[in-house]
Amino acid sequence: MSKSLPRLILFGPPGAGKGTQSNLLCEKFSLPHISTGEMMREEIKLGSSLGKKVKAILDRGELVSDDLVIELVKHRVSNADCKKGYLLDGFPRTLAQAEQVTLLKCAGGDHIVTLVIELEVPEEMLLERISKRNADSTVTRSDDDIAVAAKRLKVYTDQTAPVAAYYRGRGELKEVDGVGSVEEVQSRIIETVKKSFPGL
Ligand code: AMP
Repeated sequence: MSKSLPRLILFGPPGAGKGTQSNLLCEKFSLPHISTGEMMREEIKLGSSLGKKVKAILDRGELVSDDLVIELVKHRVSNADCKKGYLLDGFPRTLAQAEQVTLLKCAGGDHIVTLVIELEVPEEMLLERISKRNADSTVTRSDDDIAVAAKRLKVYTDQTAPVAAYYRGRGELKEVDGVGSVEEVQSRIIETVKKSFPGL
């Protein structure tokens, strides 16, 4: 039987800690970290035509088109470094994107198994965390402005939250308490991942 390879998806609202936790998890399990938000911020920094196209959208806290982001991810997961699995951070964010994930093949040809980890953080803590991130001068994200952050939360509720129900229905979603120190949340996530992928 072919080996099950992990397709981990870190899921949750803005400010839930997806970026930090994804970085740690990828280091721990030697998986490539695929963050669609990072990919787009990189393009903006480079001043590429794609970057110019998406900058205003990110600045408003809205979502980039499904077609564009799906194309980016399809291309990224075909890289050789994704042969042993990968972690998606910030993708999928709509039902249309989630349906496309299911169709993504693994470059290695092995059986890929999806595990979605939903980080649960109460809404009042999210804005607090984002404004703290905003005050930290080492992090510069124009979309961390508090009005934009509120907009991103609304976009999450309207367009992204239904994705959790989609994965719950497929039996691929596990909830993890996202309240606590980075280390506490990390060990909860690791425990959850190991239950699904004991060989990792
Ligand atoms: P993030 O770093 O994941 O919070 O993403 C920052 C911004 O990039 C989002 O607010 C969106 O404007 C855009 N973005 C990132 N991932 C996606 C996605 N999967 N679909 C649409 N837009 C996205």
